[in-house]
Amino acid sequence: MASYDAVISGAGPAGCSAALFLARKGCKVLLLEKERFPREKVCGDGITSVASSLLQEMGVLEIVRQRVGQLTFFQGVTLFSPSGGIVHGNISQAGCSSGEAYVIPRKILDDCIMAAVKEHPSITLLENTAVNDILIHGNRASGLISTKGEFAGRVVIAADGFYSPIAKRLKLNNNKKNHTGFAIRAYFSQVEGLTDSIELHYEKSMLPGYGWVFPAGRQRANIGVGVFTRFTDQRGLKRLFERFVTESAMASGRLKNAGMEPGTLRAWPLPMGSFPGKRGRGNVLLAGDAGSFVDPLTGEGIYYALKSGQLAAEAAEQALDADDATAATALYEKLWRKAFRFHDFTVGYALQTLMNNAAILESLMRHTARKQARADLLADVIAHNRRKIELLKLIVPFF
Ligand SMILES: Cc1cc2nc3c(=O)[nH]c(=O)nc-3n(C[C@H](O)[C@H](O)[C@H](O)COP(=O)(O)OP(=O)(O)OC[C@H]3O[C@@H](n4cnc5c(N)ncnc54)[C@H](O)[C@@H]3O)c2cc1C
Repeated sequence: MASYDAVISGAGPAGCSAALFLARKGCKVLLLEKERFPREKVCGDGITSVASSLLQEMGVLEIVRQRVGQLTFFQGVTLFSPSGGIVHGNISQAGCSSGEAYVIPRKILDDCIMAAVKEHPSITLLENTAVNDILIHGNRASGLISTKGEFAGRVVIAADGFYSPIAKRLKLNNNKKNHTGFAIRAYFSQVEGLTDSIELHYEKSMLPGYGWVFPAGRQRANIGVGVFTRFTDQRGLKRLFERFVTESAMASGRLKNAGMEPGTLRAWPLPMGSFPGKRGRGNVLLAGDAGSFVDPLTGEGIYYALKSGQLAAEAAEQALDADDATAATALYEKLWRKAFRFHDFTVGYALQTLMNNAAILESLMRHTARKQARADLLADVIAHNRRKIELLKLIVPFF
């Protein structure tokens, strides 16, 4: 049986990031992917500046530019309150990142990430290969069982999304309604009034979720609705979406000549980072959606997938170096908690709770609309340029 330092299930942003960062550290990596790329991924396609910085570091943005030429970037965030109030904030570059924010369809982005992976000689990639289970040997995982056979690895990384069979097998999957969201999206062409800002529409029936309009090219938009299942039943998601595009936010006629691109209306779950469980066991680590790493305030998941992949690679490499692969989870838990736990997930969950209250949301929007600096702060928090605690301070001043 072929043997690797690390075997990874799933070649989305999390799996590719883990593979690339491990390979750069000199590890021999096997990456197994169920689909053949390019493939669709249900997403809003919003890439925050922290995510684009990481993509830059991985050599991916260059590949995207070569393939599509000009990227669609956004410089502002426009928020619509339930009563129709509008706040427009500019995204500064003064935050923690030097990258720019983009909207890149996932079919293109993920294929470009994959292209960076394919260039690395230490990574073996098998597409059309679904992972079904982990191999267990004594008290540790010894590899993966797939539709193309068994593969041995000293460390196993599950990066195979929300329905990860590995997370489920180890009973580490996020099955908590209080820490899950659901979102639906479709592409529309011939959309009028698109600018270089992303739009978030907060409506009473979706709170603290929202509808979005993300410019995805000339007169093209990714339009969707996301809800949090502790507040809104996901079974009504399609109805909320239909109302969003026909009656409410689009009532201004911006979609009057627009058409939904056939086959693009699809929904998918969002596993939130506030989920209290562990993200691994022994020498098995969970990255990205498989490990429940989505932002509980905005639904951003691409950055967390890339970053948790990088952190999983760091933990795996340290454990392999010390010749104690089963120490990987303890190292990984330390790394991801330090990186995200409080500022992103705890504060994000608190804000999610507060923003379920329409009166609080309205007064926050009114307060921010009065001063451009506050509107810019709001935009920067949404765009992941500034910490959420700064927004919490606006709502609850004693923080
Ligand atoms: C509607 C919607 C809108 C969103 N909008 C945004 C947004 O605008 N910005 C943002 O940052 N995030 C957004 N997200 C979240 C984001 O899409 C995810 O968090 C992100 O894709 C997670 O990346 P990942 O690599 O963990 O998983 P995925 O992207 O799901 O990749 C997992 C990979 O594993 C493969 N796989 C699955 N099962 C197996 C198996 N058994 N064996 C082998 N391979 C397998 C899949 O084919 C896939 O390639 C949105 C999510 C939804 C649902």
